[in-house]
Amino acid sequence: MVPKSMVEQYIVGDAVVIAPLLGFVFLYYNSLVRFWGLSKLKRRASMEFPKENRINKNGSGEDVGTTDIIIVGAGVAGAALAYSLGKDGRQVRVIERDLNPPDRIAGESLMPGGYLKLIELGLEDCVDEIDAQRNQGYILYKDGKNAPISYPLEKFHSHVVGKSFHNNRFVQKLRKKAASLHNVSLEQGTVTSLLEENGTIKGGHYKDKSSQMLTAYASLTVVCDGCFSNLRRSLCNPKVDVPSYFVGFILTNCKLSDQNHGAIILADPSPIVFYPISSTEIRCMVDVPSQNLPSLSNGEMSHYLKTLVAPKVFPETYDSFISAIEKKDNIKIMLNRIMADAPHRTPGALLIGDSLNMRHAITGGGMTVALSDVVLLRDLLRPLHDLSDASVVCKYLQSFYTLRKPMSSTINILASVLHKVFSSSSDPTIEDIQHACIGYLRLGGVFSSGLSAMISGLCPRPLSLAFHLFALAIYGFGRLLLPFPSPKRLWNGAKLFWVSSNIIFPILHSEGVRQMFFPLTVPAYYRTPPRNKDLKV
Ligand SMILES: Cc1cc2nc3c(=O)[nH]c(=O)nc-3n(C[C@H](O)[C@H](O)[C@H](O)COP(=O)(O)OP(=O)(O)OC[C@H]3O[C@@H](n4cnc5c(N)ncnc54)[C@H](O)[C@@H]3O)c2cc1C
Repeated sequence: MVPKSMVEQYIVGDAVVIAPLLGFVFLYYNSLVRFWGLSKLKRRASMEFPKENRINKNGSGEDVGTTDIIIVGAGVAGAALAYSLGKDGRQVRVIERDLNPPDRIAGESLMPGGYLKLIELGLEDCVDEIDAQRNQGYILYKDGKNAPISYPLEKFHSHVVGKSFHNNRFVQKLRKKAASLHNVSLEQGTVTSLLEENGTIKGGHYKDKSSQMLTAYASLTVVCDGCFSNLRRSLCNPKVDVPSYFVGFILTNCKLSDQNHGAIILADPSPIVFYPISSTEIRCMVDVPSQNLPSLSNGEMSHYLKTLVAPKVFPETYDSFISAIEKKDNIKIMLNRIMADAPHRTPGALLIGDSLNMRHAITGGGMTVALSDVVLLRDLLRPLHDLSDASVVCKYLQSFYTLRKPMSSTINILASVLHKVFSSSSDPTIEDIQHACIGYLRLGGVFSSGLSAMISGLCPRPLSLAFHLFALAIYGFGRLLLPFPSPKRLWNGAKLFWVSSNIIFPILHSEGVRQMFFPLTVPAYYRTPPRNKDLKV
């Protein structure tokens, strides 16, 4: 029989452990309720918006309508946002520079995390009937070795997977879906500047199809004008870094050895990426460092691709690779831009998508971040019946920048770190880190699936990312000491730590350590929706 005093000891001991735990759970639950509970409670009321779809213009080209929200740009972010806000009953007016299908090499591979966001928005059918290909991950190749980055999809329904497609087909589907709502108007026009009165954005000036200058008014203007944004300057502090270019072209008449996975070859001078974008086409992206981009017009680029890159591609794709390079107008070049989000607090306007934040395209995470921001913004706006008091709405929406961090930072950091690690360098330590990456992924289990979950947007957790980056560095260090530690091996291991830290810490710093790891200490995190009495009606 257990003595009574011992039982008491257990009870007291357990209470000491359980009480703080319960306290923590209570506080955490409270903050969740404050944040999300209110938005859910008020959701029903938000459906009761007026249903007219009128945009009348007066004699001076100014609209006199009932627009709640202007969206500048109908790319991935703008079109998805227009649909989701329209579905919530808002009067939405979208002004898009060119309503024709875009011709670009960006935004062709959607991560499973992004697909889940499409489902949340009710837009999953936009990847149907466009010959989109199922993508279950990538395989990393280096010096005859390979390692899978397979998306951990076991817990999801079988249709949840990465999707790759022609970007223009996807964007046109999103636009069509948004325009199908009677309270969303989609028109062609180029917004030239935002309309500011006493520090508040009241709408924008734009040039319509016939080059007539017009003005549009709304309580909230959401700028989604993409990576080339000319409007972001007045809303944020853009510091754009261009580490490399992506040179892209389409391969036909060939197949990847594993059609369900894309491929990334860690080649010298730079990584080469392959993924199917239709049942008959494979996109090839060659990363070229920004300091030595060969000219496309004088044939230097073709020469570069044929002599330096082609020898590194798979034998089964070699002939198609050469034909693709020789095909007229097949090669397209895009800058890989990196820009941290640094928004100014501006009543009446907000940036989302690439105009707010950009990352290297090597992991194909841009659309996932954009769609995740759309879901978040929709949810934050849902409880607000009235957007007319711009400064109250602006104060409330400050929480958006902290709440978006788990997804945006996890994807941004991985993109920057992996691009730096995957790019060839004269530094042998980078080679060691590349081998460590391959070895770490080949360990399988939690190591491989953990990293893959974050790349795919299924696990947007900066703390898990920090754990994996640390574990990767330890693994790389241990690997270098094998079979027996020697002074040279220890020195190489120390260099690996030093180089890894030099890569990781500046990236963590640019993403904002406090917002990422200590969001509870950011006052904006606790913003609750303004009550009607806070808003001037
Ligand atoms: C080379 C490259 C490859 C990429 N590959 C991938 C990938 O595989 N997967 C992925 O998820 N992400 C990828 N990305 C990133 C992805 O393309 C972007 O993150 C995503 O398209 C952002 O969507 P957005 O709506 O912000 O911008 P966009 O999709 O660029 O849309 C902006 C829209 O605004 C319009 N516009 C611009 N200015 C004005 C104006 N003044 N007035 C009115 N309209 C205007 C434009 O016409 C356009 O339609 C890649 C990026 C690059 C550079």
